[in-house]
Amino acid sequence: MKNSVKVLLSIIVVCTGINFACIGCTINDQKLDYNEVNGYMSESVTTKTDRENNNSADNSGIYNSDITKQNSSKQPKGEDMSTQLPSDEGTSRSTSINKADEKIKLPLEGLTICIDAGHGKTDRKADLKEPIAPGSDIMKAAIASGTSGVATKITEASLNLAVSKKLKKALSEKGANILMIRETEYCDLTNVERTELWNSSGADLTIRIHANGLNDNTVSGVLMMVPGNKYIKDDEMLQKSTLIGKYILEGVLKHTKAKSRGTVVSNELTGFNWSKIPVVLLEMGFMTNPEEDKLLNTDSYQNKIVMGIVEGIEKYQAEMNTK
Ligand SMILES: [Zn+2]
Repeated sequence: MKNSVKVLLSIIVVCTGINFACIGCTINDQKLDYNEVNGYMSESVTTKTDRENNNSADNSGIYNSDITKQNSSKQPKGEDMSTQLPSDEGTSRSTSINKADEKIKLPLEGLTICIDAGHGKTDRKADLKEPIAPGSDIMKAAIASGTSGVATKITEASLNLAVSKKLKKALSEKGANILMIRETEYCDLTNVERTELWNSSGADLTIRIHANGLNDNTVSGVLMMVPGNKYIKDDEMLQKSTLIGKYILEGVLKHTKAKSRGTVVSNELTGFNWSKIPVVLLEMGFMTNPEEDKLLNTDSYQNKIVMGIVEGIEKYQAEMNTK
């Protein structure tokens, strides 16, 4: 046998049919009537903090000099190749790769992800307003403070930051480049300013991390928000956002075992309408529910949320790589 035996691996190009949610069937997220969700139905809920009274998740406060874009840290060699190289099933559509020449790739290598930890401390005026979408004369509050835990008294801004930092680490370990909108409690950017930051960064997608509040402490669960097509005319951006939202919600539900509040398509979030790249907003749970509030503020539960998000993005990226 020769010394240099070349091992051939084959990649099966799998064409998967994807059912995107009907983006045209937009839900009025201000009423939070979850009738058009990706298979997850739940009763109508009116949130107090994140989507009503122009006090949406979007109205995050901000400003911060802590914007970082870091290169990914590499995982040790021996990474499971199965994430990049599906097993050879011997179809005629296979293409061959020389394993000896193939540099082991991490699943999210080449992907730049913006993590937007919602809210934050700011010195800017609370009544500051900005257009809900480019060219729109509808003005909306530019900054919002978010909710807080009824049991833990921890602010949503702090919770969002804690999870975002864990997420940054986990995604970096998968090979992704990360842009953090904030890494401290303080952040003075308005929603539009946050959006402009990720638009100009070269990021591929943005994940906005939030938690919910409601004046009914029995309500709990995970909610996904994705952009609608009222102001955004880029169908590819909308479809990718919907797909990312679907996979992240599935991943988070799988790991947390939390109740699903479904997916809401929103035309009312400034931080969606100004975005030029795929964007989703994850409401991790309800801080107004004492049990969920306590859970959300534990490392173990935060790690489950992070695992679910990472898994969702990996699934999305794997699918993109086949196209
Ligand atoms: Zn929020």
